[in-house]
Amino acid sequence: MKFDAPITIALSKGRIFNQSLPLLAHAGIEPADDPEKSRKLILDTNHEQVKLVIIRATDVPTYVEYGAADLGIAGKDVLLEHGGEGLYEPLDLNIARCRMMTAGYPDAVEQKGRLRVATKYVKSAQRYFAARGEQVEIIKLYGSMELAPIVGLADIIVDLVESGNTLKANGLVPLEHITDISSRLVVNKASWKMKHGLIMQLIEAFREAVKK
Ligand code: ATP
Ligand code: MG
Repeated sequence: MKFDAPITIALSKGRIFNQSLPLLAHAGIEPADDPEKSRKLILDTNHEQVKLVIIRATDVPTYVEYGAADLGIAGKDVLLEHGGEGLYEPLDLNIARCRMMTAGYPDAVEQKGRLRVATKYVKSAQRYFAARGEQVEIIKLYGSMELAPIVGLADIIVDLVESGNTLKANGLVPLEHITDISSRLVVNKASWKMKHGLIMQLIEAFREAVKK
C-alpha cells in the first residue's frame, strides 16, 4: 500500500499486538520494534507515515474517539464498556477470540436472594441481568475476578473465558454464555472522512487477511 497521509493505529501489547501482526503485514505494515522489548509508546513502522501507539486495551476507544489515533484495534468487551459512541466499527478482525461468561462455583446460583456479581464489565453485566429480569448487585473490579467467589466477595463473576483453565485452576466453572468476543477495527469519524481512500484500502487489506 502507498501511505500518502499520516496514519496512527492504536493497539495494546500482548495478545492483540501479536495477533494483529499478520493483519498489519498483509497491509504492508511492519513495526520497527517489539513492544515487549522496547519501552517506546510510539512505534515506527517500515512506512514513514504509519505509526503505532501502544496503550492499555481499555484506552484504545478513547484515543480513537478523540482522534489521537485514526484507527484502533480493540476487543468487543472493551467496546461494549466504552459504549462505542464517536467511533466507526467497520470490521471484525476475528482475533483474540473468547467468550464473555458468568462463572462461579458449580452451585453458585442455587442460593436464594440477590446475587452478588463481581466484574470489570459492569455495563455488559448490567445489560445481561436486566434483560433476564434478574436483580443483582454488581461489584466493580479491575482484575483477578476469579478471586472474588473464593474469598466470598461475590457469588459469581462476569469474565472472559478462553479455555476455562484459569477458572478450573481456582475451582470455578463457566456457567452462562453472555456473548462471543473478538477484536474489532475501530475508526475515528473525522479520519473516516478526511483520509477516506487510505482507510478504505486499509480496511480491504485487513478484510482479505481475516478471510485467510
Ligand atoms: P491489562 O492486562 O492491561 O489490565 P487487559 O487484561 O484488558 O488489560 P489483555 O489481557 O491483553 O489486556 O486483553 C486484551 C483484550 O484481549 C481483551 O480486551 C479481550 O478482548 C481479549 N482477551 C482477554 N482475555 C482473553 C482470553 N482469555 N482469550 C482471548 N482473548 C482475550
Ligand atoms: Mg489481562
